[in-house]
Amino acid sequence: MTSPLAPDSLGPTICAGEILVEIVATAVGDGFRDAIDLVGPYPSGAPAIFIDQCARIGGSAAMIGAVGDDDFGRVNLDRLARDGADISAVAVDPDYPTGSAFVRYREDGSRDFVFNIAHSAAARFGWSAPVEALAARAGHLHVMGSALSMPSASEVIARAAGVVKARGGTVSVDPNLRKELAQDAATARRFSELVEMADLLLPSGEELEHAAGVAGEEAAIAVLFARGVREIALKRGRDGATVFVPGAAPAHAPAFVVEEVDPTGAGDCFGGAYVACRRLGMEVAEALTYACAAGARNVTHRGPMEGAGTRAELDAFIAATPRAGA
Ligand code: ATP
Ligand code: MG
Repeated sequence: MTSPLAPDSLGPTICAGEILVEIVATAVGDGFRDAIDLVGPYPSGAPAIFIDQCARIGGSAAMIGAVGDDDFGRVNLDRLARDGADISAVAVDPDYPTGSAFVRYREDGSRDFVFNIAHSAAARFGWSAPVEALAARAGHLHVMGSALSMPSASEVIARAAGVVKARGGTVSVDPNLRKELAQDAATARRFSELVEMADLLLPSGEELEHAAGVAGEEAAIAVLFARGVREIALKRGRDGATVFVPGAAPAHAPAFVVEEVDPTGAGDCFGGAYVACRRLGMEVAEALTYACAAGARNVTHRGPMEGAGTRAELDAFIAATPRAGA
């Protein structure tokens, strides 16, 4: 199946949204009401994790967002640049600190967060000359639903989508709905407009039915194809992932069997690898293998993007790691 995504040679994959540091509790438990051991700062933010994995596996990738003029900002800029992402459109805000998220896992695997995003540099970037210059040479826009709750980011995303599409580029959308982040009527409307523009959708679990607005996996997929989506990569956590394209049998890939240390970032790494591989011309099956490997490898590392792999690291991981059910 040829890729519905614009080739890597058209220009970088771009993603606009929150850039954060994550600070993680070392022991499971409930919340942050007592003094506990924490580790970090780790570079984070779903859009940044996506772009980092996209670049690490060898796709051309560029980030749009903002950090503060502080060490938390430098942690992110240094990592993205080291991994080969273009950071020309990441602003350094002189007045606001870099965004942050404190995370603690509960016994049942759910998470407590303390976020500083809305009132940090992470949410304060807008359309600028560097963003305009980047969008004008970009080949693909990836949208993280988490970014749409920030009004200014949301405007940048809508405008970038128009510019990228007008030059023959393509769009992918990861709904990435977080119950902790606001989902008001305006956000829901913006989300639905972007789904209309999406060539590739990367939902996880029930996000598929939510994006389609109907119940049932098969019905949801039919609705989304009717709305113009050309490929759907459905993430199923420990059950692997399935790619749907119109008129062909679904391609399922079982998950790799790993010990999960920190689940955060799996979906973002999956997406970064999948988009990069499809844009580099790989068939669905090969791209899906790399995407599942990227997600699985990432959960074996503490920190949301610490396990993002290069192509060579993922090849070694694939060779050494059993698949579920195999
Ligand atoms: P996130 O929690 O980052 O939002 P998500 O819900 O978008 O993630 P997941 O389905 O959790 O996405 O993970 C994406 C992919 O990563 C899965 O399809 C799977 O291939 C791989 N993966 C995630 N968690 C595990 C795990 N514990 N073991 C093996 N593979 C995993
Ligand atoms: Mg997700």
